[in-house]
Amino acid sequence: MPRKIAAGNWKMNGTATDLTELDALGTQLPASSAPTVVICPPAPLLFRASEVAGPHGIRIGAQNCHAQSTGAHTGDISAAMIADTGADFAILGHSERREAYGETNRDVRSKTKAAWDAGLTAIVCIGETGEDRDANNTLDIIGGQLAGSLPNDVTETNTVVAYEPIWAIGTGKVPNLDQIVEVHDFIRARLIRRFGQQIGAALPLLYGGSVKPDNAATIFQAANVDGALVGGASLKANDFAPIIHALAAS
Ligand code: PEP
Repeated sequence: MPRKIAAGNWKMNGTATDLTELDALGTQLPASSAPTVVICPPAPLLFRASEVAGPHGIRIGAQNCHAQSTGAHTGDISAAMIADTGADFAILGHSERREAYGETNRDVRSKTKAAWDAGLTAIVCIGETGEDRDANNTLDIIGGQLAGSLPNDVTETNTVVAYEPIWAIGTGKVPNLDQIVEVHDFIRARLIRRFGQQIGAALPLLYGGSVKPDNAATIFQAANVDGALVGGASLKANDFAPIIHALAAS
């Protein structure tokens, strides 16, 4: 069985005062056998977030890393620097970075290897645009992103795949359950075909895109959804905690 994971992507939101939300979330987590909870704050908060989250068993992740380990890359952050803050995860290939910075599948693959080298677990994002879906190209796009973004040495512990339809991110639109099932079953089959039954079946597969307290339980009904990557609803403990409870109950 894959691990259940609830990951929050704070994007470019939050300053030090917002770390009180981590303490608040810590007091609202389900008891034992809870899902793994990961918060990915902006880079300047990683170190302090790790200190606040640690006692609650909440894990911390970055939202990106550079593919190189050191060097003349002004403004960039290496995976080792992220690990040094106490973080364990890095979101890679988020559609906002693919779009705004032209990140390609090849870039995401290089960053994933860099994350692994630093001991981080990569949360690799893939997802189709609304146009892709309207043109019935969803599975082709997803299959191509999956093949191109994942290096060969994937294991069930070094990688998490997040399926995030771009048209669902921050829009309040969510695919229906059949659509979520179709894509997640497809991804699972591709993972098993490429990495073998043991790794492919155990690698956590997350859904992301307008997950909220009122739709989380429905989304988690899909057999191959092992959790969620949550943007807006991860900023406040009172919104994220019910999503985590829905996952724990699924
Ligand atoms: C995201 O950006 O990864 C995301 C899923 O955002 P939201 O939950 O706000 O749609």
